[in-house]
Amino acid sequence: MSTNETRQLAAESQLLHTDYPAPDAYRSLSMPVYHAAAYEFDNADQMEAAFTGRTHDFAYSRLTNPTVQHFEDEVKAVTGAADVMALSSGMAAISNVFMSLAYAGANIVTSPHIFGNTYAFFRSTLADFGVETRFCDMTDPAAVEAAIDDNTCGVFLEIITNPQMEVADLRALSAICRRKGTPLVADTTIIPFTVFRAAECGVDIEVVSSTKYISGGATTLGGLVLDYATFDCTRSRRLAPLAAKFGRGAFSAKMRSEIMRNLGAYMTPHVAYMQTLGLETLDVRYTRAAGSCLELARRLRTLPGIEKVNYTGLEENPFHALSVAQFGSTAGAMMTVDLASREACFRMIDRLRLIRRATNLFDNKSLAIHPASTIFGTFTEEVRRSMDISQQTIRFSIGLENVDDLFEDIRQALAE
Ligand SMILES: *Cc1c(COP(=O)(O)O)cnc(C)c1O
Repeated sequence: MSTNETRQLAAESQLLHTDYPAPDAYRSLSMPVYHAAAYEFDNADQMEAAFTGRTHDFAYSRLTNPTVQHFEDEVKAVTGAADVMALSSGMAAISNVFMSLAYAGANIVTSPHIFGNTYAFFRSTLADFGVETRFCDMTDPAAVEAAIDDNTCGVFLEIITNPQMEVADLRALSAICRRKGTPLVADTTIIPFTVFRAAECGVDIEVVSSTKYISGGATTLGGLVLDYATFDCTRSRRLAPLAAKFGRGAFSAKMRSEIMRNLGAYMTPHVAYMQTLGLETLDVRYTRAAGSCLELARRLRTLPGIEKVNYTGLEENPFHALSVAQFGSTAGAMMTVDLASREACFRMIDRLRLIRRATNLFDNKSLAIHPASTIFGTFTEEVRRSMDISQQTIRFSIGLENVDDLFEDIRQALAE
């Protein structure tokens, strides 16, 4: 928007009207896709200035690209984050964050209730480099505090865990993290930043799998890292040397200028284009899907064959009050239902006609999956138990179909 605008726009308006800085020669209303690997310079001085960071001219698309930067700028404008970095997937976002924070001898404090690949990244990949993972109950702030020591490089959690649907008290955890001098890193994929203001709850670094809601119809993979520059980087062993120069911007300086360049998982321009389109309709799609999910959760409670509906939007859910306090009136577009047995789950999934049998979340189409046999299928039963992954659970991601159609599909799939 023009700079003389005084009134802050609502998120859905802002996402449609974040102009790109250089006007296009043809006055294209949307940001053009710059499918370029490299950019040309007029002279050696200009080149030196760009390569040594004195200017921000584009040089090479592993470092930055105009179309991707515009996507990052849109997210920055709507969230107020100090820096936003776009990567090739949610896992690239998570792994780049911890490659920027961790070191041999460091530990990460987290919950066993996290996305399967994040769990494996911590427990297997980082473990091989001498980084310890300490699992504790994120809903018990005292346990989290007890697990943190001088070598804790970050506390990591998901704002609503999947598929356990557990919600931690972010403000309480943030107070502990600030006191102990470690950043609070939250995976907020399940509630988009148009609705959930992570920084207001004390999250220092937000990671998002933009593959989900943002991509808009499951078009592309992507990940975002939002740095609110709220963490005192002098208290991180890894970032302290940079903090003298960058202050609270040391985390994003480290990640953007070193780790992202060296790991090479920056988002590509075509993906940024698709996901910029996704941002334009994010709020309307999310509001619709979350509304349908609540309506469906209410109706499924009384359906024979369903033993339990797990959705924090339901008043009787133990995390309902905390969910409302932190996330407002919506609770995401994912829920789980428990049936009598694994066999009952398989039978129901096989009989679905409208809802698709697929992994992924927040496609425009509704999706169903049996997490224990798929996402967590290669884990041992013991690990699955420690992660509270039940054989009786089906996960639904609710899309944009008519609610009556969705309900009817589940009803007929459960019918004797
Ligand atoms: C999907 C997902 C991820 C991983 O994202 P990718 O884009 O698939 O790499 C991480 N966290 C959560 C909560 C997710 O749902």
